[in-house]
Amino acid sequence: MPSNVEPLRKSRPCPECDRPSTRESYPFCSERCRNLDLARWLNGAYAIPVVDDESSAEGGDTGGQRQRGDD
Ligand SMILES: [Zn+2]
Repeated sequence: MPSNVEPLRKSRPCPECDRPSTRESYPFCSERCRNLDLARWLNGAYAIPVVDDESSAEGGDTGGQRQRGDD
């Protein structure tokens, strides 16, 4: 086994600002950048439109008007 393995792997740059990441906030450089990324992710998730569901629920000309009430 190689004995000169470094305790830390090659640090990745922060996805937000390209600064070296820290172990505490990996893979980000700080809590701030981590929160930034999280906020962006959440915004993206909330921005996903769900109009598909509504349009298909209104135009039910193939299956009659039966509703699935499994619960
Ligand atoms: Zn950063």
